[in-house]
Amino acid sequence: MALLGGIEAGGTKFVCAVGTGPDDLRAVVRIPTTTPDETLPQVVDFFRQQIAKEGVLDAIGIGAFGPVDVRADSPTFGWFLDTPKPSWQQIDFAGVIKQELGVPVGFDTDVNAAALGEYQWGNGQGLENFIYLTVGTGIGGGGLVKGQPIHGLLHPEMGHILIPHDLSADPFPGCCPFHKDCLEGLASGFAIEKRWQQKGAILPEDHPAWALEAGYLATGLVNFILMLSPERIVIGGGVMEQKQLFTQVRNQVRKKLNAYLSVSQITDNIEDYIVPPKLGSRAGILGALVLAQRV
Ligand code: ADP
Ligand code: ZN
Repeated sequence: MALLGGIEAGGTKFVCAVGTGPDDLRAVVRIPTTTPDETLPQVVDFFRQQIAKEGVLDAIGIGAFGPVDVRADSPTFGWFLDTPKPSWQQIDFAGVIKQELGVPVGFDTDVNAAALGEYQWGNGQGLENFIYLTVGTGIGGGGLVKGQPIHGLLHPEMGHILIPHDLSADPFPGCCPFHKDCLEGLASGFAIEKRWQQKGAILPEDHPAWALEAGYLATGLVNFILMLSPERIVIGGGVMEQKQLFTQVRNQVRKKLNAYLSVSQITDNIEDYIVPPKLGSRAGILGALVLAQRV
């Protein structure tokens, strides 16, 4: 079986691994995301060591935080574009990996990669149209249409959709540097921490933070459902460790749709429609292996 490399490039850490799938994920490392000059050589070193140990890799797949250029025919394919992350703007990430390691490189967003991981081995199996969201430090969304990751002008940026914000109920202005109170600005882990001056992980289960959070996430989801008609919504990320959120989000989605879509997935089986990733926090890195497979 082909031996593959994967890189999940996140805003706080890069996860790198070598393997063939969920039952064979070898030598996983986490490298802090500092500057490209510091982080990328460590990534390259890891794969050089792995190649020395395991033999040649067939390909490396990269799932990266955005915005990135995912258009295969573009001169800047595989680059970080004008990302809000200082020092990472206009960096030829895929090019560096390809040049330094001499292997073919697959490239997509972190969330499109996670969707591919769930498609191959998780809760997206058998579904040609579904979306994957992460609610972590930020919010991101990707997914598949007809079994292919969604690309277009660039790629979806589902975390930055604009949603109603009732300032009398929630005076927190939002924390997105571009839009203030977009979905990410109101409902990301960072927003929760800023609004309540405490990390989400230590807010009690019955804290009002969670009803507010569920309302915002459900508004986002309703918009995605109506626009993309996904067959399932998989939601990962640190904030979704609050398992009560799943029930609250499902209830709010049904309430906001107000019986508009009479499909059994929503009316009878919503607990199978809005679900956590089967691969858990490994969806992204395993999805990177799928990107490698598909090169
Ligand atoms: P990242 O988005 O940085 O890749 P994560 O998906 O792990 O990483 O998300 C981190 C975010 O999730 C942080 O904002 C953190 O405060 C929040 N978080 C982590 N664990 C929990 C938890 N148990 N409950 C609520 N929020 C959490
Ligand atoms: Zn935004």
